[in-house]
Amino acid sequence: MAKERLYLFDTTLRDGAQTNGVDFTLADKLAIAGMLDELGIDYVEGGYPGANATDTELFASERGLKATFTAFGMTRRPGRSAANDPGLAALLEAKAAAICFVAKSWDYHVRVALETTEDENIASIRDSVRAAKAKGREVLLDCEHFFDGYKANPQFALACAKAAYDEGARWVVLCDTNGGTLPHEVEQIVGAVVKAIPGDHVGIHAHNDTEQAVANSLAAVRAGARQIQGTLNGLGERCGNANLVSIIPTLKLKPEFAQAFDIGVSDEQLKKLAHVSHELDERLNRASNRNAPYVGENAFATKAGIHASAIAKDPATYEHVAPESVGNKRKVLVSEQAGRSNVLAELERIGIKADKDDPRIGRLLEIVKEREAIGYAYEAADASFELLARRTFGKVPQYFDVTQFDVNVEQRNNAKGERVTVTMAVVKVTVGDDQMISAAEGNGPVNALDLALRKDLGKYQKYIAGLELIDYRVRILDGGTEAVTRVLIESEDEAGERWTTIGVSPNIIDASFQALMDSIIFKLVKSDAPA
Ligand SMILES: [Zn+2]
Repeated sequence: MAKERLYLFDTTLRDGAQTNGVDFTLADKLAIAGMLDELGIDYVEGGYPGANATDTELFASERGLKATFTAFGMTRRPGRSAANDPGLAALLEAKAAAICFVAKSWDYHVRVALETTEDENIASIRDSVRAAKAKGREVLLDCEHFFDGYKANPQFALACAKAAYDEGARWVVLCDTNGGTLPHEVEQIVGAVVKAIPGDHVGIHAHNDTEQAVANSLAAVRAGARQIQGTLNGLGERCGNANLVSIIPTLKLKPEFAQAFDIGVSDEQLKKLAHVSHELDERLNRASNRNAPYVGENAFATKAGIHASAIAKDPATYEHVAPESVGNKRKVLVSEQAGRSNVLAELERIGIKADKDDPRIGRLLEIVKEREAIGYAYEAADASFELLARRTFGKVPQYFDVTQFDVNVEQRNNAKGERVTVTMAVVKVTVGDDQMISAAEGNGPVNALDLALRKDLGKYQKYIAGLELIDYRVRILDGGTEAVTRVLIESEDEAGERWTTIGVSPNIIDASFQALMDSIIFKLVKSDAPA
């Protein structure tokens, strides 16, 4: 039997941007859109063109995505014509293959919030869909509060959805805007809707206020809906949106869905899921949810004991799916043996040959354990782990020594009488028999230190000339007795290769210095610089 196509629509950049504490820059939005594209998501909703500078710029920029990039906005305002509505005009001008309109579908909201008539609400839907179709766009209509609206007045809610479908909207999306609808209600109501509108034109947009947004999305699919809207890691206001990171593997790996549907995510792309989920957290400077289904650090972790020994015999005994299928790893805690095999795999990846009984593996494992206990996170800092492994196996030359550094932050009045903060760093470096002293001003202590450190490394200068610090993230960790600072630095070289290094200390400058040093040394190792 031929499988039906199920479409995935991501709204991380629009609804996910409503998350408390999340504020995407243009660079964030472009990077996240790229991650979604890498995963094979069908639609990427970028935001509201015309509503703010970031989104306006996003919709003007070249994005080069395979996914259908979608602009979001309101249908024409009541009492206005489609041609005379600046909001609608901005939406129609946006560089986007699809437009997703949002409209009321709950009579109570039409009366109270919109202060207009039911007929005018439906006319607004018709006019807006028609205007976007005339511009050659694929059109979606988000029916706000559809489930609450349907419970209050099914004829009206359905009439709103039907108006969009009749005007040629590709998708009519049923939104559980307040997030309080339960799975059996969703299944019932979607079942009724697909009698009037074919299911392959119906989508579901669920919020997670009863922690059932994923269940509600799957219930809608069971009832006939063929598009799922959600966000990465379930971002979204209040309790979040339906989490695509949980929905995707369920659709791919659970026979009921896998045998009935095809989605745009291939098996290979599914293996990137854990990575994409963590990469998003890193970008947002949030700690990843260790207990996240499928992708969490603990999703396939078992403590030593009967479970662990059964898993050693056959993993399927205690795992509902294979961790590798979503790019995650099995973890058997407190088990020397499991740790060894992980380290061995990492060493092989780096290109260090070691026998499985090599005592240095145990030593490396000890160091990693000790360091992670005080705040290091080597999973997020590939380059620092590689250096640690190379050092344990005695393979990193002592290229140079920083014998002393000094960072000075001064606030004072300048010649014009303005209050300014000036930062300067001085670094003393020994390279072989040469001693170098470099000084640099920066827009902050870390920036000044970075510039001074990389100003003159003598014979090694040519290797680091193309090195650039592209991201700097700080997290204050509660280290038990006292807070410590974890710094992650992402660097890039002239070939576009990126790596991340880490530093941990109670002192933010010390933590930054460690991460900067690791980054430079990693680059020298990578370039085969002579000792
Ligand atoms: Zn929403």
